[in-house]
Amino acid sequence: MAARRKPRKPPATAAGVRRVVSRQRAVQRQVARADAKHARKEPKHPVQAGARPYPEPPMPQQHERKPGAERDLDPQPMFEAPFYAGSAKLAGKVALITGGDSGIGRAVAVLFAREGADIAIQYLCEHADAEVTRRAVESEGRRAILVPGDVSDREVCRHAVARTVDELGRLDVLVNNAAFQVHVPRFEDLTEEHFDLTVKTNLYGLFRMTQVALPHLTEGAAIVNNGSVTGLHGSGHLPDYAMTKGGIHAFTKSLAAQFVRDGGRVLQRRVLDIEVGADGPRTLVTDAGTMPVGTLVVCAGAHSNEFSAKLGDPVPLEAERGYHVTYSDPRMELPLPVFFPEYKFFVTPMEMGLRIAGQSEFAGVDAEPDYARADILAKHMQRIFPGISTADTTKWMGRRPSMPDSMPVIGRATKFGNVYYAFGHGHVGLCGGAPTGRIIADLVAGRSPSIDVAPFSAARFS
Ligand SMILES: Cc1cc2nc3c(=O)[nH]c(=O)nc-3n(C[C@H](O)[C@H](O)[C@H](O)COP(=O)(O)OP(=O)(O)OC[C@H]3O[C@@H](n4cnc5c(N)ncnc54)[C@H](O)[C@@H]3O)c2cc1C
Repeated sequence: MAARRKPRKPPATAAGVRRVVSRQRAVQRQVARADAKHARKEPKHPVQAGARPYPEPPMPQQHERKPGAERDLDPQPMFEAPFYAGSAKLAGKVALITGGDSGIGRAVAVLFAREGADIAIQYLCEHADAEVTRRAVESEGRRAILVPGDVSDREVCRHAVARTVDELGRLDVLVNNAAFQVHVPRFEDLTEEHFDLTVKTNLYGLFRMTQVALPHLTEGAAIVNNGSVTGLHGSGHLPDYAMTKGGIHAFTKSLAAQFVRDGGRVLQRRVLDIEVGADGPRTLVTDAGTMPVGTLVVCAGAHSNEFSAKLGDPVPLEAERGYHVTYSDPRMELPLPVFFPEYKFFVTPMEMGLRIAGQSEFAGVDAEPDYARADILAKHMQRIFPGISTADTTKWMGRRPSMPDSMPVIGRATKFGNVYYAFGHGHVGLCGGAPTGRIIADLVAGRSPSIDVAPFSAARFS
């Protein structure tokens, strides 16, 4: 039998390896010294970015018996919003808020009162909490009544609405907020009784309250239903609650559909031209005929300047084009949106998958998309997450309506009293859309908007 020979190491290589190891260790020691020098001290407290101090963890553990009393919570929830100034958006109105004694319901009651509404506070039996809400509403200078009872009982709903109308004179806004929620470790632990209580409170309560309130709601009235993200995504520990919230979303959309059936009109037209007379715009020329103009709001995104110029307000609006890539089945998860400053793009987890967005391109509003720009985003993504699946990917280009001073154009046209502008929100049109809508609604209705719109006037470019 042949003796096994020891593998021979080339002596030069062995010495070379020792040298490399020794250099690596020297570098490691040097970095360890640098690490120690620049060691980041963990902040003792979370960043306080609000206008007043907010409670900091750790919060004391607590386990309240149902139905739970807000006054027993430590720390006490904040609901006063001392820096929010009302602007009479609900002047002379009356709101009925279910679950109005505490939590979201209490905060809504107080801020509705600050907007000028009298409040009926409906709640189960937490009388002490409801008294706090009543005093808070009254300190806003408004009236409040307390209407206790189980919202899943039709008679209780009928009584609450009747007392609201009798004592406060009318009903303009119903806020369906009351809900029951208790988690379960697993679906198998959800009992029939538990399920029944959740559905009766969250769905029957909302259905019955809406039904008895409806005959009292007239033009301009509103029903506000409290949904939840669990109604969109489900929840492992709240299967019954998530199911009722999904039901509330669908119920709300169904009520909106009835608006159209009852004579509300939603028209989809492409506006080709505006015929303008000496006293203002007279007719819209559309792809489906002409339409007379009463009041005109120009909010045509990156095309808005085509119309504002016709109406006597030429403005330097530019389409700042941006790109998305959406990975429908990325085979990876991100819990939060992430910004990568070195590549200047965002990755956002969405219902339809992972979306990356970025790029600013100035190529005119009508030019064809240049998807090489989307490919740059995708290349960065691949570099950061090499394991991402790109099997199911779509690309998109959008036009941000951008102004040179990064301020939107909001307000009345300079020449005509029946024309309003609402465009130019650039990178933040999704966030800015709702407040702008509110401002325009106020202006069209002849009310003072909550802010001074003068700095946003189209006249700043004349
Ligand atoms: C890649 C990208 C990422 C973005 N990310 C964000 C973000 O994270 N957050 C955020 O707040 N904003 C974001 N934005 C910006 C936001 O999308 C815009 O600011 C917003 O869409 C502008 O709203 P708008 O209603 O003014 O215009 P648009 O959304 O463009 O709406 C204008 C509407 O007018 C219609 N219209 C135009 N011409 C006519 C015509 N002749 N007749 C009839 N209708 C017409 C159009 O069809 C369109 O429906 C992003 C934009 C892009 C491109």
